[in-house]
Amino acid sequence: MYLNDDIKKIKGIGEKSAEAFYAAGIYTVNALLHYFPRNYTSLPEAAKIAEISKEGRRTVFGKIMSPPSMFGRGGKTILSFYITDGTGRMKVNIFNMPYMRKMILPGRQCYFSGLCTRKGTEVLMSQPKFMTEEQYRENCGRLSPVYPLRKDLTNTKLQKALKEVLPLCDDIKEYLPQETLAGEHLLSIPQAIRLMHFPETMEDVYAARKRLAFDEFFLFLARMELLKQGPEKRESRYVCVEEQARNAADLLLSKLPYELTGAQKRTISEIQKDLASGYCMNRLVQGDVGSGKTVVAFAAALAVVAAGAQAALMAPTEVLAAQHYKDICKMSEAYGLPFKPALLTGSVKASDKKKIKAGIAAGEINFMIGTQALIQEDVETNDLALIITDEQHRFGVRQRMDLAAKGCEPHVLVMSATPIPRTLGLILYGDLDVSLIDELPARRLPIKNTVVDGSYRTKLYQFILKRVNEGRQAYIICPMVEPGEEDCEATEGLANVVDYSEELRKKFPPEVTVDMLHGRMKPAEKNEVMQRFASGETKVLVSTTVVEVGVNVPNATVMMVENAERFGLAQLHQLRGRVGRGEWQSYCIFVSGGDDGEMSKRTQERLHILSETNDGFKIAEEDLKQRGPGDFFGLRQSGLPYFKIADIYTDADLLKRVKPIVQMICREPSERLADLKAALYAKEEMDYIDFHGICL
Ligand code: ADP
Ligand code: MG
Repeated sequence: MYLNDDIKKIKGIGEKSAEAFYAAGIYTVNALLHYFPRNYTSLPEAAKIAEISKEGRRTVFGKIMSPPSMFGRGGKTILSFYITDGTGRMKVNIFNMPYMRKMILPGRQCYFSGLCTRKGTEVLMSQPKFMTEEQYRENCGRLSPVYPLRKDLTNTKLQKALKEVLPLCDDIKEYLPQETLAGEHLLSIPQAIRLMHFPETMEDVYAARKRLAFDEFFLFLARMELLKQGPEKRESRYVCVEEQARNAADLLLSKLPYELTGAQKRTISEIQKDLASGYCMNRLVQGDVGSGKTVVAFAAALAVVAAGAQAALMAPTEVLAAQHYKDICKMSEAYGLPFKPALLTGSVKASDKKKIKAGIAAGEINFMIGTQALIQEDVETNDLALIITDEQHRFGVRQRMDLAAKGCEPHVLVMSATPIPRTLGLILYGDLDVSLIDELPARRLPIKNTVVDGSYRTKLYQFILKRVNEGRQAYIICPMVEPGEEDCEATEGLANVVDYSEELRKKFPPEVTVDMLHGRMKPAEKNEVMQRFASGETKVLVSTTVVEVGVNVPNATVMMVENAERFGLAQLHQLRGRVGRGEWQSYCIFVSGGDDGEMSKRTQERLHILSETNDGFKIAEEDLKQRGPGDFFGLRQSGLPYFKIADIYTDADLLKRVKPIVQMICREPSERLADLKAALYAKEEMDYIDFHGICL
């Protein structure tokens, strides 16, 4: 077996289970090895049923009393049965695992381990792990990994598959010199991967995590360094005459219904200078959410298109790509712009794709907008002069090399809304030219913020109804898609999109249309939902954080976030950026979990920063200050999707140390560089897969 083999090659994974792995973005053996736990637990304390008075994780040795009853609710199945241990009776619920029914045999005795709650006189255990006497002994005192799970992908399945492929870790090539490993006290890659999946102690986990975080930073910075391709600038075939570029942009800008901000104007003129410089542009446009980056991107594309060349815009999601495409079509028509755009995403029909590709090859299409599909499919471009990536730095070294091999060295413009503290931004992006859009369009009313607990929910719904009656729309964000999708401990009591939207439909009058959006829907379906919301047909959109990135519906004025304590501050700030985009007063409401008014002081403080300021950079700095080390599990913090393990905030010191090492290795030509590039390619390949599985 090889690292790049399909996971179907692994013993015990057939067609059907392979689907479950694919759905989680795990296509290859290598991707499986890099699918890391998001937390670790040890076996809960053993207890007698009668002694369980408080909520908590417990292990109970008990006998199954009768066959389970199975019922469905909102597309999910629940198996429910009772067990006894002589001291009392306990109810057990299992979500979305109907096949477990066969194993729940009356009279069977085993260990059950999971989260217990008490409802009145009844004790309930949710989603327990079943163990034989032998398994219980084996697990006692051991750490067990908790993986990010999805339907049909269980911890057991993952661990079994991982045991099979673990020896292949040794095939992953080391690209760091021995001195660096020793000097930085880093484990080897195989050691780190082994310990991530099968640690003995938390110390093992910390050491493993450090190596992997180091790698993520290292490869990211190496990618930046190589994108720049050495100290000399690369000459560009596409030299726009600055004045022409300016005239082309003016055509657009003179017709816009608003005046550009000073920062937007400055950025556009910096881009125009780059395009005219004779060298390849490598520019990062960093601007907070709502600062108006899209129009800057369009102005850049226009300069290129007006000169007769082609431009491409890549967005991280289909929803976002479709939105950009629609905007461009509308503008082109209304303002008579020379764009001939096309939308190329994964869900475009094969026959249409063929036509679009032919159009691109022939130069009839001069502005391609799409997702990664745009570079993954082998699109023959005619004269591609500019590549813009929106919201995510996903344009890899390999793509650049592939394009260069085809004789095409485009200008690159990267748009990012991730507010990174300046000191860290300098390290991450220091090798790119950076334009900062540090000014929000005028005439915007500042967003009003509140932090409340669940007891306010009824009032909040009334508030939303009122806004809807005034013609506005609202988002409600939940951390989960459906109940019981991960382990019970982490998800107990969290709001989920499926149940939430169902409940809301019952609460609101029928004319207040409620729709839902989440990452497990097919891209085409997601587009339809977004379309309905953008057109105003849907009034309230219940969604996971898929709407976090770049969606623009100016008529939406309420953003309500359930279980806000579960999100990182940067991410919450991004969510808030979805409102406050139009002329109306907008509101952002962070609801902290629990209906009993019991909100931890720390959560309260953390969220309070958000209600004090709308400045993304300030929030990022504060977040950095508040975080303690070891804070890294549980929250998806940085909002930087390309770091899965590393966190630019908690690992800031590591990041600072990585930078000079990257420069040392990348700048002196050596054999190391070949190994490094191989590692980088492997990572990019994996990231793309991961990208389809998780982000979309
Ligand atoms: P982001 O920087 O988050 O990508 P967008 O480009 O989506 O922001 O812009 C947000 C909204 O602001 C859009 O509706 C856009 O039309 C509008 N907008 C952009 N620039 C200005 C401006 N200078 N004045 C007023 N509105 C603007
Ligand atoms: Mg945007």
